[in-house]
Amino acid sequence: MSKVPIVYYCMDCSFSNGNEHAKRCPKCGGVITYKRKDDSYRIRDGKYDVEKYWDFLPLQDSEKLVGSGNEPSPLVESLELEAKSLAGKVMLKDETKNYTNSCKDKMAIVALSQMNELGVKSFVVSSTGNVASALAFLLNKHKGIQMHCFIAKDFLPRHRYMDSPNIIMHLVDSKYDSAQEEALKFTNDNNLYHDGGYFSVAKRAGLAMAFLEAWEQSKLNFDYYFQACSSGMGALGVYEMTTKMMKASLIDKIPSLMCVQQDSCNPMVKAFLAGEKTILPEHIVENPTGIAKAILTGNPTVCYPSLYKVVTETKGSFISVSENEIKSAQKHLNNNEGVAATPDGATALAGFLKYAETHTDELKGKNVLINITG
Ligand SMILES: [Zn+2]
Repeated sequence: MSKVPIVYYCMDCSFSNGNEHAKRCPKCGGVITYKRKDDSYRIRDGKYDVEKYWDFLPLQDSEKLVGSGNEPSPLVESLELEAKSLAGKVMLKDETKNYTNSCKDKMAIVALSQMNELGVKSFVVSSTGNVASALAFLLNKHKGIQMHCFIAKDFLPRHRYMDSPNIIMHLVDSKYDSAQEEALKFTNDNNLYHDGGYFSVAKRAGLAMAFLEAWEQSKLNFDYYFQACSSGMGALGVYEMTTKMMKASLIDKIPSLMCVQQDSCNPMVKAFLAGEKTILPEHIVENPTGIAKAILTGNPTVCYPSLYKVVTETKGSFISVSENEIKSAQKHLNNNEGVAATPDGATALAGFLKYAETHTDELKGKNVLINITG
């Protein structure tokens, strides 16, 4: 595995403290991203994602890996969706087949391994279920790291694998955004490490392994990438990953990033349609509800500006879908594609179907990747 050090730098102002890790830019507060010092990347031999894609990840010490990694999830070509949309290839990345049934397994190993490299012994996270379950799955075997997990009461049943002495649950009697706020307060009050959420390079890189894996499975140049969007860390991660894939000459373009939200919680769509580069008070959704429970961030004020930049740069979009459209996409995945998607995962497909209805000419012959998670 590459021993070339990681260089962290700001996506907005390019400020860099070299190899020193930070979550936000000390100069402008922007998102910190990363590259290898030699800016050289290649896919290595191996059975698991982290060993194959090591060069592309913000990791430096293979001795500190927490877990061995994930085996590839299926990539399903949908002939039916190709015929219906007139797109070129329509590929479904079936992330429901991971250990804890979501794309968050790919995120968890990179996030925990980076914390292990940084010497973090105890960290704080807030979750609607999938993130914490994936982290907990690995922490059951790696008890040297402690997790404080803030959970809004309604989301408790979505948390699995939490019964381990190094996992401490903090129930918040309110909505998900409040759990995020409580987690930050607890972090500051107790001088602990916050996992960083959207601002974690490791979480974003881990999630984006799904895109790199889909490329390895298909060797396709994808023109569009659809993903359900809460904070948008998955889409931003794909932007960072595809930048490196371009350097490695694996692909010749960064796909248009298509972020899909449900219309009961779509603050980013509202801001985007209003032509705003930031979230304004009228875009915030108080007490968000919806069937796609993993994507209920009602106030993405801190995330949206950087996501807006990469979405517009790639000529992508923010798309809103209804509950019925999500249910219909879920039914299609279950009945026609053999993909056991939850409403969260089906949201991405619902976004594609909605976009295809009104952008037939634009999509004609184009290759599309849709991330279906649990
Ligand atoms: Zn900066």
